[in-house]
Amino acid sequence: MFTLIDLSYSKDALEPVISAKTLEFHYGEHLQAYVDNLNKLLPSSGLEELPLEEIVKQSSGAIFNNAGQVLNHNLYFTQFGAADKVANAPKGELAAQIEKRWGSVDAFKDEFVAKGVGLFGSGWVWLSAQVDGTLVITQEPGASNPVVKGLKPLLTFDVWEHAYYLDYQNRRAAHLVELWKIVDWRVIEERY
Ligand code: MN
Repeated sequence: MFTLIDLSYSKDALEPVISAKTLEFHYGEHLQAYVDNLNKLLPSSGLEELPLEEIVKQSSGAIFNNAGQVLNHNLYFTQFGAADKVANAPKGELAAQIEKRWGSVDAFKDEFVAKGVGLFGSGWVWLSAQVDGTLVITQEPGASNPVVKGLKPLLTFDVWEHAYYLDYQNRRAAHLVELWKIVDWRVIEERY
């Protein structure tokens, strides 16, 4: 049985970047539904004893869609914090790898947002590590996650409309740019 992850911040802590109302729906309704659906689908699937990442790697169809969305949202919601409490720049080896690949953190952010804006329909944009520690940005459609490509997922922006429509309507780019204010780079460094 999977359960809804706990958040380390209050429902209004991410405002005005993500409103309490969006968090209530996105976390309390959408993510809860993916968790509930996954728990209904798993019994006697042969996958029910596996960790979440393995279920995503080994499943297809409805189980993949719900397991992928649980994994994606767990990584998404736990990477944020209140704007005045997060570490808002990467440090150490992660910062060095970003500079090596993109030249600067700002250039990385520009490409990351551009790939999020350019993803057609619903999905996710990801920063991931390859096995040699180098970094890559990928676009994942629907419920997919970089683990299916053998990558280690580090940071993600959700570009499904439910992530931003209440606060930004159709302005996906404006929403994605604002998200940098609440990313806690300490969490991303720990994942790396
Ligand atoms: Mn979502």
